[in-house]
Amino acid sequence: MKNTFDASRRRLLQKVSVGLALTPLAAGALRSAWAADLPLVTTDDPTAKALKYTTDATKATDAKPNSKCANCQLYQGPAGSAQGPCLLFPGKAVKASGWCASWTAKTT
Ligand code: SF4
Repeated sequence: MKNTFDASRRRLLQKVSVGLALTPLAAGALRSAWAADLPLVTTDDPTAKALKYTTDATKATDAKPNSKCANCQLYQGPAGSAQGPCLLFPGKAVKASGWCASWTAKTT
């Protein structure tokens, strides 16, 4: 009887462990899907204009070399994404290749 209980408990613990291990992957997939659905910020958006947002950081005259949304602390898109949310533009996405005057180097 005890062996049956131990085996059953072991299987349950294995399933819980696998579930916990996969949770970040599922969250990442959901975040990617969510980010892909957000409308892109346009350069004629009032906030974008105020922050000199551009979809191409290489054309931003005030940008530090190699600074772009993808390596900005405020960019919320997953690594390698083409676009993603930015904390300054709630409900919208910015291009990973973009840039604005609030660019802050990613620390993590
Ligand atoms: S704050 Fe950062 S991520 Fe947001 S638009 Fe500006 S440079 Fe891009």
